Amino acid sequence: MSRFGGRVVLVTGSSSGIGYATAEAFLEEGAKVAITGRDAARLKRAEKALKRLGKVFAIQGDVSVAADVKRIVTETTKSLGSIDVLVNNAGIYVNKPVEEFSEEEYDAVMDINLKGTFLCTKYVIPSMVRRKRGAIVNVASDSGLVGTAGSSVYCASKGGMVLFTKAVALDHAKDGIRVNAVCPGEVETPMLDRDAEASGLGYREYYKRLVAPIPMKRAAKPEEIAKAILFLASDEVPFMTGAALSVDGGATAQ
Ligand code: NAD
Repeated sequence: MSRFGGRVVLVTGSSSGIGYATAEAFLEEGAKVAITGRDAARLKRAEKALKRLGKVFAIQGDVSVAADVKRIVTETTKSLGSIDVLVNNAGIYVNKPVEEFSEEEYDAVMDINLKGTFLCTKYVIPSMVRRKRGAIVNVASDSGLVGTAGSSVYCASKGGMVLFTKAVALDHAKDGIRVNAVCPGEVETPMLDRDAEASGLGYREYYKRLVAPIPMKRAAKPEEIAKAILFLASDEVPFMTGAALSVDGGATAQ
């Protein structure tokens, strides 16, 4: 039996980047995977590419809207069965000093990164409690562990995710549900590409400056974060809950 054979996994924000690589890795290990995203066309493309690997269920929706999350959870359960693993990955990044942040930008970052994690957890966890099993992995960030210049609101959202992880882990340890966070450093995804473009530096110069403070002098591939997510979701670590696992090339070890 493969590591996740027969398991039902819901990965939010899985039409690109870390979410896509995570959906791919779970499928390769035998799971049935529900993928979600806001953009129906991008989701369709991801579904088409992933279908060759196994059972995929694609469902469009916004994680910051309660009605969408309820529908995603209900439809996933109808189509694939009760959810064994939830990966709260959907997120956005806005980089600017606090005084330049609009209230709308603040709400968007908090609503997607933090409220989205809350809503998905709220609607998935009751069936995990009933079944006395489940694993939740929240994709936080190194910016949830230490401050990052220019990223105050993003840091607040990701720091919130880390403590949300720990508190939910405490509430549900007795129910056989493990809740952990992965804290990636820089990762080569469309999110990083957009930040590079916004910097106006050109990708080569942007990348050079980005990796200079990282001990390993490089960014991660999305697959490297996916491997850590699968590890936290797996039966290999039954005593691990409430942890925030750094996968950042040593960035926060300094
Ligand atoms: P990405 O932009 O490729 O992926 C983000 C995904 O989230 C996309 O599929 C997007 O459609 C989806 N999404 C955004 N808002 C949504 C919403 N409201 N509802 C549903 N889906 C939504 O970026 P990524 O780098 O793969 O980011 C994935 C996660 O990893 C994010 O939470 C991000 O904060 C985190 N992260 C990324 C990095 C990095 O360097 N790339 C570092 C640390 C943490």
